[in-house]
Amino acid sequence: MHRPGSRTSRLALCATIAAALLVAPSGVALSAQRATTAADAGRWLSALADDSLQGRLTGSAGAQKAARMIAERMQRLRLEPLGDDGFLQRVPVFMAPPRQQGGAERPALGASFAALDTLPAEKRRSAANVVGLLRGSDPALRDEYVIVGAHYDHLGVNGARAVDGDSIFNGADDDASGVVAMLETARQLSEGRAPKRSVIFVAFIGEENGMTGTTWFIRNPPRPLTQVVADLQVEMIGRPDSVAGGPGKGWLTGFERSTMGELLSAAGVALIADPRPAQNFFMRSDNYPFALEGIPAHTISSFGGHTDYHGVNDEVDRMDLEHVAAVINAAAKAVRVLADGERVTWKEGGKPVRR
Ligand SMILES: [Zn+2]
Repeated sequence: MHRPGSRTSRLALCATIAAALLVAPSGVALSAQRATTAADAGRWLSALADDSLQGRLTGSAGAQKAARMIAERMQRLRLEPLGDDGFLQRVPVFMAPPRQQGGAERPALGASFAALDTLPAEKRRSAANVVGLLRGSDPALRDEYVIVGAHYDHLGVNGARAVDGDSIFNGADDDASGVVAMLETARQLSEGRAPKRSVIFVAFIGEENGMTGTTWFIRNPPRPLTQVVADLQVEMIGRPDSVAGGPGKGWLTGFERSTMGELLSAAGVALIADPRPAQNFFMRSDNYPFALEGIPAHTISSFGGHTDYHGVNDEVDRMDLEHVAAVINAAAKAVRVLADGERVTWKEGGKPVRR
């Protein structure tokens, strides 16, 4: 989740809070697929939020290491690579001038790889989305795609100062937790019966820096966006949100904007509407650029406003792993519904308008 930018925060979100639904209990058996356990969640969270990844800043060696880990996992799950370099979809990134004098340089998206060539070598960075496909089984639906995503980049290392001897923004909640949900959903759907529609699993780079990875993906989609019927992102599910019902419960951004929330609840996946519409979370995650393309796109989260947001204490030992596993299992069930069920449509006035 990124901080609200000036562009998005100006947009007013008129939202009504829909009726609360219950999150599905973990271990919902749809076929032979094995539910995600707290131990699964902890293992993958620990790997992605490890200090050795140095906070996964876009364009850094730590982020590249994370990308390789995610690609290896997708390969092990026998997803088909949809990048331009195996599972990696390379993204042209360079270090941008600081926003203010004396500030830190931030990664930014280049117009193209050719445009990057005009920059000095020390300004260019390697960055990539990680993209894998699970092919659908239904002859009438397999050329339709559901995108399941989460961002694996975070804020890197706090160069200015250490807090209690720690300077690494581990980003366990933001958003290693979502990446684990994406990968575990891929595992569950791979183990169970094949989905009817095809599912594209993506770990996005650059969310914290202007959604650079998503922007590049949309400009260079591995499959035509006209064939993408829904996008579901998972962001910050590491801790329960007391306002949303506590452990095991999650919420969906922009719930009232499309039929997605109702379809999921009718199928027994339970998510409530985002309880804090004033925070504009619908516009603050990788779902939003897809929504602007007209694709029904939402984010599952349970971020309750904890004070470790974008802090060096966003660590695995502060996660509630049972809660993480429960929300992952709800997300996996949600993706199965999106892949097999009725196509999601926007409600009247729900589709965001580009301004
Ligand atoms: Zn964030």
